[in-house]
Amino acid sequence: MSLPSARTFLGTFFHTPSYGKVECLANALVETDDSGTITSVTLPADEGYAERECAAREAGTLVELGEGKVVLPGFVDLHVHAPQWPQSGIALDEPLNVWLDKRTFPLESKYADLEFARRVYADLVHQLLARGTTTCMYFGTVHVEPTVELARQCATQGQRGLVGKVVMDDPAGNPSFYRDASTASALADTERFVGMVDALRPGCAQGVWPVVTPRFIPSCTDEGLAGLGRIANESGAYVQSHCNEGQWEHDFVFERFGKSDAEALYDCGLLREKSVMAHCTFLTEADGRLFAESGAAVAHCPISNAYFANSVAPVRRLRAQGVRMGLATDISGGFSPSMYDNIRQAVMVSRVREDGVDALVAQDERGAGESRISSVEALWLATAGGAEALRLPVGSFEPGRAFDAQVIDTRRPDADLTGFGVFDGPRDVLDRVLYLSVPENIRQVWVQGALVLDKDEAR
Ligand SMILES: [Zn+2]
Repeated sequence: MSLPSARTFLGTFFHTPSYGKVECLANALVETDDSGTITSVTLPADEGYAERECAAREAGTLVELGEGKVVLPGFVDLHVHAPQWPQSGIALDEPLNVWLDKRTFPLESKYADLEFARRVYADLVHQLLARGTTTCMYFGTVHVEPTVELARQCATQGQRGLVGKVVMDDPAGNPSFYRDASTASALADTERFVGMVDALRPGCAQGVWPVVTPRFIPSCTDEGLAGLGRIANESGAYVQSHCNEGQWEHDFVFERFGKSDAEALYDCGLLREKSVMAHCTFLTEADGRLFAESGAAVAHCPISNAYFANSVAPVRRLRAQGVRMGLATDISGGFSPSMYDNIRQAVMVSRVREDGVDALVAQDERGAGESRISSVEALWLATAGGAEALRLPVGSFEPGRAFDAQVIDTRRPDADLTGFGVFDGPRDVLDRVLYLSVPENIRQVWVQGALVLDKDEAR
């Protein structure tokens, strides 16, 4: 892994500086300072282009990304259950409660073993980087030290990590073999965890942050939820949880509190700036306003939702309401660690939502109204949208943002994306990459101006 240093990158970059808008920066010079922050973007038609290129070449700081390569911003994955990585792709035929009780909780309980945690987390962080994910928000387990180990893996492998020790303090809502010992210990452990992860941040160029993490309302006591809201308020830490994952959770919260999941989370102080809530498929217009006004964000998990959400999230409506929103794999409710797979699924399910599913229903009654999103809008969710959700300066190639990038080779022998010259402009090039690329196409990954993965290094 290289260190951040002042560099000038020469290449063809795609990014989405605002929702629905894509830019191709062909043969651009992207300059960074020695903290890995972008200081300028210069196009061939701009004044001073030749001089800047020449100066960087002479200084030995020019990084030529090469012919046939395109560069995308590193992805921001807003929702990953790191301990579930060993079971990705397994048992997705089960209903959520069976999947949790029979598969997921027994697996997560194994992370009391620090060595097991280290092995799995080292592999997961590497696999996500290899698929272009440069910023990731993780659930760990209820265990403090093993979850700090996940944050340490992010820090040492060069991924920007946001990591939470999970709280499950309600004896009635959780198995006896896997839960917090008490509400008091859950809150004390969370405060200790926040301090331990904060202590890792100095000296970690890309940053690593603690996240206050009630698993979801059904696994926490009222006192536990209120205590976590208080800790988030006092520490200013990030918050993450699930909101309206599926019909069961939606109904459970209504029965317990007589209000929606969003309202209940808000009342506990958990829906706030720097909160990220996964799924949110049942949000009403009023819930959407609560998100927009509180500054909380939605992590859209389109693959996982197909298995467990009993519905398709209203992405287009929530965006129109001004809700902050990004994209997420939701390992292992979602089987794929790839944000590309989730970009594709986000586009496809939005079309299904709009068109409806039963051809025997009249066409004008079949769908849920205008719902479709484009591949460019899905790319925004996976990059700049995630950055906005986390309030981090990443996700696009603009001055002031960290240089987080994935270098994609469109000319791999087993994964050629060049399209035999039928392209009609840069958007076609981008869509080929978004729809057809595989991990092999991603050759280099840069985070905060440092090269953290180089798949051609061994040659
Ligand atoms: Zn989840």
